[in-house]
Amino acid sequence: MVSGVQKRYKHVKDIVKIMGNKERIRNVGILAHVDHGKTTLSDRLLSGAGIISDKIAAQALVLDYLEIEQRRQMTVKSANCSLIHYVNNQPYIINLVDTPGHIDFTGHVTRALRLIDGAVCVVDAVEEVMVQTETVTRQALSERIRPVLFINKIDRLIKELRLSPQEIQEKIVRIIRKYNELIEAYAEPQFREKWKVSMATETVALGSALHGWGMTLNMAKEKGIKFSDIVKAYEEGRVDELKRELPVHEAILEMVVRNIPPPNVAQRYRLEKIWTGDLESEIGKYLLECDEKGPLVMAINNVVIDPHAGPVATGRVFSGTVREGDTVYLIGVKSEYRIQQVSIYMGATRVPVEAVSAGNIAALLGLDKARAGETVVSSNLKNFPPFEKIQYVTEPVVTIAIEPKRPQDLPKLVDILSKLTVQDPNLVYTVNRETGETLLSGTGELHLEIALHTIREEGVEVEAGQPTVVYRESIEGKAGPILAKSPNKHNRLWISIEPLDEKTLELIEKGEIKEEMNPRQRAAILREKCGWNTDEAKGLWAIEEHKNVLIDLTTGVQRLNEIKQLVIAGFYEACKSGPLAGEPMRGIKAKLMNAVVHEDPAHRGPAQIMPATRRAIFGAFLSAKPVILEPIYKIEITVPPDAVGSVVALLNQRRGRIEEIEQRGRIVRVAGYIPVAETIGFSSVIRSATGGRAFWQTQFSHWQPLPKSLAEKVIASIRAKKGLPPEVPPAEEFIDTL
Ligand code: GDP
Repeated sequence: MVSGVQKRYKHVKDIVKIMGNKERIRNVGILAHVDHGKTTLSDRLLSGAGIISDKIAAQALVLDYLEIEQRRQMTVKSANCSLIHYVNNQPYIINLVDTPGHIDFTGHVTRALRLIDGAVCVVDAVEEVMVQTETVTRQALSERIRPVLFINKIDRLIKELRLSPQEIQEKIVRIIRKYNELIEAYAEPQFREKWKVSMATETVALGSALHGWGMTLNMAKEKGIKFSDIVKAYEEGRVDELKRELPVHEAILEMVVRNIPPPNVAQRYRLEKIWTGDLESEIGKYLLECDEKGPLVMAINNVVIDPHAGPVATGRVFSGTVREGDTVYLIGVKSEYRIQQVSIYMGATRVPVEAVSAGNIAALLGLDKARAGETVVSSNLKNFPPFEKIQYVTEPVVTIAIEPKRPQDLPKLVDILSKLTVQDPNLVYTVNRETGETLLSGTGELHLEIALHTIREEGVEVEAGQPTVVYRESIEGKAGPILAKSPNKHNRLWISIEPLDEKTLELIEKGEIKEEMNPRQRAAILREKCGWNTDEAKGLWAIEEHKNVLIDLTTGVQRLNEIKQLVIAGFYEACKSGPLAGEPMRGIKAKLMNAVVHEDPAHRGPAQIMPATRRAIFGAFLSAKPVILEPIYKIEITVPPDAVGSVVALLNQRRGRIEEIEQRGRIVRVAGYIPVAETIGFSSVIRSATGGRAFWQTQFSHWQPLPKSLAEKVIASIRAKKGLPPEVPPAEEFIDTL
């Protein structure tokens, strides 16, 4: 224990010193086809640097802190860690950024790739180069990340396949050749030759991550070990000796230090790929030079909640220096924060330091609203073009009902959920306090499964229902003014309704028009960009979260101000759960045209005004050609050519729309759209249709009216599930007459 702490302490001091010298930094990731050994290798690297015990490394999966990933054999969350390695007696810092191999979370992958300048690609010597080897290599090359190759599981060639040294060599040569074909196909011309890998240039290592050994040609030469010695060691059961002589972490880190460029070199050619701003501008120059004296620019790739410290935002400093106590600006959140603590990673542990300079990976405390994908800059850089357009929420379109097995766990469940939703803005939950029923919504089936797993890991046993798709209610026509009276008949409201125009919808979605902004500024945007007339632009009262707006167009109504907040509350309530199927409304422009408000406050309370508002909106809504909208995913599938037919057939069966079929090297990319409802259970269907060779990803794209033939059925089934009467009520039920 004690020695571990001392060792770590010494490392921190060492690391801080080295961090100032950019030539000594390497930012890398590990990429692989599922099962080829990425996790095993990551753990070996950690244990090699003395951070976790060797014994744990053989089994535990430190970088994968979701156990679910072991089961699914993929990495969904990014974790970072930093290691130290000596080459020619000079220390280097290697920042290892965990790059998720999976795909439901496209954002995660590119985000992690932004942080790294090089990648170790792990290829299983038995299986050789596979579909995902190609996908991840293509992705890396498209971001100008230099790959090096680790051929893993050599032990299996020796022990299981019993290949002769000659045959092993042939296999290795073939893997290297195939890998270079990928570089030939996908690297940009200026890197094509330079980045090809070979044993001779020490850009290829081979070994067994499981047994802890690995070698580059040079390493083997230096230690006087021939390949036949390795075969012999296996035959004579001296594998431990191999691990001592040729530790795999040395082979990998050696290869990384020698071949992956330091950040100041890499930023010069990578910036134009990962940043849209002007490279000729002043800040552009600081970024290209990775200058620690420039203004701060940092890209956050990962935010986790530390139970003691709160949100921890980790990312790469591209320019300037980040210091404890500094005030910084978050481009996405559009606010300033004070940095409470700056840390670096030692292994997977955070250790506080005073400052972290350009080229390094840092973890920050104090940026409460920061999310993965955020760009953090100096306060004087408020107009900095961010690395990534912050898309706070891609609509959570799939929902499951969950319930704690023990009712007394409900508060704990709510606590976990609120933490989870901070870490992952794509998760949304609602709790019905009376029934205890909790609805959790996310971007897809897998997304929710992972959330459930986390909840269970945190110690709350939950039961979960079937995943269901979320719908929206909208209108295609106009109606009104519709009169509705309050239950006591003393108040009257006249409301008209029409579809909200596309431009306004878009700007609300982008967060450029918000409820909490300066009303005058907002009115100007509505007039100039969305073509609203002045009265409507000035009269905007409320923007509801599902993209509905309420406008006041009345003139001279007495006591209107006394009920304004209640009308808004009634409007919110109506939007949250529409009359067709109790699903949220979307894209509604509701206009208050006239009102009569009772003079006695006792007669115009919430119990009067809120139901009247809801009635008027429902009456108008049902009179305005109501429709039900379903969520549509954009889908991208890559498959070998002989499986394209089955993929196309599958998409057609499931109401998919194919936009593009494109041959890319030896794989085919099929892109198009598919209703989310048709993707429930899609994984196993596509797996069996393609023999598991399809690699697919989905992302929410848009809402679309359900075909008439389906609408009725869907409405009926949602109503049944919610225990609503089977028939949609007629508009007249909500409309009063004078
Ligand atoms: P990942 O999906 O790429 O993260 O792969 P893992 O590291 O989880 O490894 C997948 C499986 O291959 C596990 O059962 C590992 O124990 C096994 N494995 C990893 N490296 C080696 C190796 O060098 N030799 C052998 N025989 N098995 C290995």
